[in-house]
Amino acid sequence: MRRTKSHFAGRLEFLTEAELTMHAGRSLDVITSATIVDSQWERLVEPSTFAAASVVAELVDAFSEPDLAQPEVYALLAAVVPALAGADDARALLPRFELRLLDALGIAPALDACVRCGHAIGAEGWLDPDAGGLLCSQCHLRGDAGRLDAGDIENLRALAAPRGGPVPAAVSANPAVARAVDATVTYHLGKRARSSAFLDELAHTP
Ligand SMILES: [Zn+2]
Repeated sequence: MRRTKSHFAGRLEFLTEAELTMHAGRSLDVITSATIVDSQWERLVEPSTFAAASVVAELVDAFSEPDLAQPEVYALLAAVVPALAGADDARALLPRFELRLLDALGIAPALDACVRCGHAIGAEGWLDPDAGGLLCSQCHLRGDAGRLDAGDIENLRALAAPRGGPVPAAVSANPAVARAVDATVTYHLGKRARSSAFLDELAHTP
């Protein structure tokens, strides 16, 4: 009988933090030992939690290839996984996570003032990923889609601050803000995350 399943498999579950010892092989590195640092697996399997966690995994994977050499990204991941596992609504944590991830990667949108003219954002603004942050009503040219009102802008700023810290669950995103952050992530990724589409499907399933 051939052993087809690695005896490390249980320690290398989805989003499990583990310390690995690797042996450099001829074509692939071989794992010679694996120790679990933190596993939230049992709390992540609930479908909507799993879907939200899949977005986190996909984005970290897509943005930080080939590895997690960026300490800030690793720290963010280590903070967000237990937060997702313990959240009643894991999806609500995503916009904040996404803003933190963009910040760790040095591509966070500028939110303090209009990125074009530098004037304060008034009663409305637009998060324009191409421009690199918020635009005021004078500088925004294309239609009403993506408009954020004063409350949304305040919500967006609260979600994005303080930078570099852990991911508290206290602030959840307004719907318009969640959409704007999603659009910003899509812009930087060059495509919509596959797991975000899955999350949408799940949200529309009664
Ligand atoms: Zn402006």
